[in-house]
Amino acid sequence: MYHLFITSSNRYCYARTMVGASHTFDTCAECGRKNIRFLPISEQAFLWIEGGKRFPDFLSFGDVGQYLFVSPAVISVFETNAVSGYHVEKSLPVYRESRGEMQKVDDIQYYSLNVTGQVDFDLKAMHLKKKHSCKSCGNFDWSIQRLSIVDAKLDLNTWDQSDLCRVSSLPSSLVCSEKTADLIHQNKLSGVYIQDEKDMFRIR
Ligand SMILES: [Zn+2]
Repeated sequence: MYHLFITSSNRYCYARTMVGASHTFDTCAECGRKNIRFLPISEQAFLWIEGGKRFPDFLSFGDVGQYLFVSPAVISVFETNAVSGYHVEKSLPVYRESRGEMQKVDDIQYYSLNVTGQVDFDLKAMHLKKKHSCKSCGNFDWSIQRLSIVDAKLDLNTWDQSDLCRVSSLPSSLVCSEKTADLIHQNKLSGVYIQDEKDMFRIR
Protein backbone atom coordinates (compact mmCIF):
# COMPACT_ATOMS: atom_id res chain seq x y z
CA MET A 1 0.00 0.00 0.00
CA TYR A 2 1.02 3.64 -0.09
CA HIS A 3 1.41 6.23 2.62
CA LEU A 4 -0.36 9.56 2.17
CA PHE A 5 1.77 12.37 3.54
CA ILE A 6 -0.13 15.63 3.57
CA THR A 7 2.02 18.71 3.99
CA SER A 8 1.93 22.41 3.30
CA SER A 9 4.75 23.68 1.17
CA ASN A 10 5.34 27.37 0.46
CA ARG A 11 2.89 27.15 -2.36
CA TYR A 12 -0.13 26.02 -0.43
CA CYS A 13 -2.36 27.26 2.31
CA TYR A 14 -2.76 25.15 5.42
CA ALA A 15 -5.30 25.08 8.22
CA ARG A 16 -3.95 26.40 11.47
CA THR A 17 -6.85 25.01 13.42
CA MET A 18 -10.52 24.06 13.21
CA VAL A 19 -12.48 26.62 15.19
CA GLY A 20 -15.47 24.97 16.88
CA ALA A 21 -13.82 21.57 17.36
CA SER A 22 -12.28 21.35 20.80
CA HIS A 23 -10.77 18.55 22.82
CA THR A 24 -10.11 17.60 26.40
CA PHE A 25 -7.81 15.18 28.22
CA ASP A 26 -8.86 12.19 30.28
CA THR A 27 -6.40 10.69 32.74
CA CYS A 28 -6.49 6.89 32.61
CA ALA A 29 -7.17 5.48 36.09
CA GLU A 30 -5.18 2.34 35.23
CA CYS A 31 -1.92 3.68 33.71
CA GLY A 32 -2.07 7.41 34.45
CA ARG A 33 -1.57 8.42 30.82
CA LYS A 34 -3.36 11.50 29.63
CA ASN A 35 -5.47 10.58 26.64
CA ILE A 36 -6.93 13.16 24.31
CA ARG A 37 -10.67 13.09 23.70
CA PHE A 38 -12.28 15.04 20.90
CA LEU A 39 -15.57 16.78 21.48
CA PRO A 40 -18.25 16.87 18.77
CA ILE A 41 -17.63 19.34 15.95
CA SER A 42 -20.03 22.26 16.23
CA GLU A 43 -22.44 23.18 13.45
CA GLN A 44 -20.67 26.51 12.99
CA ALA A 45 -17.16 25.03 12.79
CA PHE A 46 -14.76 26.47 10.24
CA LEU A 47 -11.15 26.10 9.20
CA TRP A 48 -8.77 28.91 10.03
CA ILE A 49 -6.38 29.19 7.11
CA GLU A 50 -2.82 30.42 7.26
CA GLY A 51 -0.02 30.83 4.78
CA GLY A 52 0.08 30.48 1.03
CA LYS A 53 -2.22 31.76 -1.66
CA ARG A 54 -3.29 28.57 -3.40
CA PHE A 55 -5.67 26.07 -1.92
CA PRO A 56 -4.53 22.45 -2.30
CA ASP A 57 -6.79 19.42 -2.75
CA PHE A 58 -5.46 17.83 0.44
CA LEU A 59 -5.30 20.48 3.15
CA SER A 60 -2.54 20.23 5.72
CA PHE A 61 -3.72 20.68 9.31
CA GLY A 62 -1.44 22.28 11.90
CA ASP A 63 -3.41 21.39 15.03
CA VAL A 64 -4.04 18.17 16.97
CA GLY A 65 -6.59 15.62 15.80
CA GLN A 66 -6.92 12.95 13.16
CA TYR A 67 -8.71 14.81 10.43
CA LEU A 68 -8.59 14.56 6.68
CA PHE A 69 -9.68 17.68 4.81
CA VAL A 70 -10.14 17.43 1.06
CA SER A 71 -11.43 19.63 -1.75
CA PRO A 72 -14.65 18.99 -3.70
CA ALA A 73 -12.41 17.77 -6.56
CA VAL A 74 -11.17 14.89 -4.39
CA ILE A 75 -14.72 13.89 -3.46
CA SER A 76 -15.66 13.94 -7.15
CA VAL A 77 -12.72 11.70 -8.14
CA PHE A 78 -13.33 9.33 -5.22
CA GLU A 79 -17.07 9.05 -5.92
CA THR A 80 -16.66 8.57 -9.68
CA ASN A 81 -14.18 5.76 -9.09
CA ALA A 82 -15.89 4.14 -6.09
CA VAL A 83 -13.00 4.67 -3.69
CA SER A 84 -13.94 2.95 -0.42
CA GLY A 85 -13.05 3.38 3.24
CA TYR A 86 -14.39 6.79 4.20
CA HIS A 87 -17.50 8.82 4.69
CA VAL A 88 -17.96 12.54 4.42
CA GLU A 89 -18.42 13.97 7.89
CA LYS A 90 -18.88 17.65 7.26
CA SER A 91 -18.44 20.46 4.80
CA LEU A 92 -16.43 23.32 6.27
CA PRO A 93 -16.09 26.93 5.19
CA VAL A 94 -12.67 28.54 5.47
CA TYR A 95 -11.76 31.84 7.05
CA ARG A 96 -8.56 33.80 7.15
CA GLU A 97 -7.34 36.91 8.81
CA SER A 98 -7.31 40.01 6.73
CA ARG A 99 -6.49 43.41 8.20
CA GLY A 100 -7.02 42.08 11.72
CA GLU A 101 -10.41 40.55 10.98
CA MET A 102 -11.52 37.02 10.26
CA GLN A 103 -13.02 36.91 6.80
CA LYS A 104 -14.71 34.08 4.99
CA VAL A 105 -12.99 32.98 1.79
CA ASP A 106 -15.62 32.86 -0.94
CA ASP A 107 -16.03 29.78 -3.11
CA ILE A 108 -13.67 27.61 -1.05
CA GLN A 109 -14.78 24.76 1.15
CA TYR A 110 -13.26 21.53 2.40
CA TYR A 111 -14.85 18.27 3.36
CA SER A 112 -13.85 16.52 6.54
CA LEU A 113 -13.53 12.80 5.79
CA ASN A 114 -13.87 10.14 8.41
CA VAL A 115 -11.52 7.38 7.26
CA THR A 116 -13.03 4.04 8.29
CA GLY A 117 -10.78 1.56 6.45
CA GLN A 118 -8.35 -0.41 8.62
CA VAL A 119 -5.04 -2.16 8.19
CA ASP A 120 -2.29 -2.86 10.71
CA PHE A 121 1.46 -3.26 10.84
CA ASP A 122 3.32 -6.51 10.49
CA LEU A 123 5.21 -5.84 13.71
CA LYS A 124 7.25 -9.03 13.48
CA ALA A 125 8.64 -8.09 10.07
CA MET A 126 9.37 -4.60 11.42
CA HIS A 127 11.23 -5.96 14.50
CA LEU A 128 8.98 -3.74 16.55
CA LYS A 129 7.04 -4.49 19.73
CA LYS A 130 4.42 -2.79 21.84
CA LYS A 131 5.51 -2.23 25.44
CA HIS A 132 3.59 -1.27 28.60
CA SER A 133 0.21 -1.79 26.93
CA CYS A 134 -2.64 -0.58 29.11
CA LYS A 135 -5.58 -2.96 29.45
CA SER A 136 -7.93 -0.11 30.19
CA CYS A 137 -7.17 2.62 27.61
CA GLY A 138 -5.18 0.61 25.08
CA ASN A 139 -2.24 3.02 25.07
CA PHE A 140 1.28 1.62 24.69
CA ASP A 141 4.90 2.57 24.01
CA TRP A 142 6.94 1.36 21.03
CA SER A 143 10.01 -0.77 21.78
CA ILE A 144 12.09 1.53 19.54
CA GLN A 145 12.10 5.24 20.28
CA ARG A 146 13.26 6.48 16.90
CA LEU A 147 10.70 5.07 14.52
CA SER A 148 12.37 6.92 11.63
CA ILE A 149 14.94 4.12 11.44
CA VAL A 150 12.21 1.49 10.96
CA ASP A 151 10.98 0.25 7.58
CA ALA A 152 7.21 0.01 7.93
CA LYS A 153 5.42 -3.08 6.64
CA LEU A 154 1.69 -3.64 6.60
CA ASP A 155 0.14 -7.03 7.23
CA LEU A 156 -2.34 -7.51 4.40
CA ASN A 157 -4.14 -10.20 6.44
CA THR A 158 -5.36 -7.32 8.62
CA TRP A 159 -6.49 -5.23 5.65
CA ASP A 160 -10.26 -4.79 5.30
CA GLN A 161 -9.77 -4.17 1.54
CA SER A 162 -10.75 -0.49 1.81
CA ASP A 163 -9.02 1.90 -0.57
CA LEU A 164 -8.43 4.43 2.20
CA CYS A 165 -7.25 3.20 5.62
CA ARG A 166 -5.85 4.27 8.92
CA VAL A 167 -3.17 2.07 10.46
CA SER A 168 -4.80 0.54 13.56
CA SER A 169 -1.67 0.75 15.74
CA LEU A 170 -0.88 4.29 14.57
CA PRO A 171 -4.13 5.95 13.51
CA SER A 172 -2.40 9.21 12.58
CA SER A 173 -1.01 7.33 9.55
CA LEU A 174 -3.13 7.29 6.42
CA VAL A 175 -2.52 4.69 3.74
CA CYS A 176 -4.22 3.93 0.45
CA SER A 177 -4.53 1.27 -2.21
CA GLU A 178 -2.63 1.37 -5.50
CA LYS A 179 -5.89 2.33 -7.24
CA THR A 180 -6.23 5.43 -5.03
CA ALA A 181 -2.57 6.39 -5.49
CA ASP A 182 -3.02 6.14 -9.28
CA LEU A 183 -6.14 8.30 -9.16
CA ILE A 184 -4.33 10.98 -7.15
CA HIS A 185 -1.52 11.03 -9.73
CA GLN A 186 -3.74 10.91 -12.80
CA ASN A 187 -5.97 13.71 -11.56
CA LYS A 188 -3.02 15.76 -10.29
CA LEU A 189 -4.61 16.19 -6.87
CA SER A 190 -2.34 18.54 -4.91
CA GLY A 191 -1.03 18.85 -1.37
CA VAL A 192 -0.15 15.20 -0.82
CA TYR A 193 2.96 13.06 -1.30
CA ILE A 194 2.53 9.41 -2.03
CA GLN A 195 5.24 7.41 -0.32
CA ASP A 196 6.02 3.70 -0.30
CA GLU A 197 4.58 2.16 2.84
CA LYS A 198 8.06 1.29 4.09
CA ASP A 199 8.98 4.99 4.26
CA MET A 200 5.96 5.91 6.38
CA PHE A 201 8.08 7.05 9.36
CA ARG A 202 10.41 9.16 7.26
CA ILE A 203 9.14 12.68 6.83
CA ARG A 204 10.18 14.21 3.54
ZN1 LIG B 1 -4.39 3.44 30.41
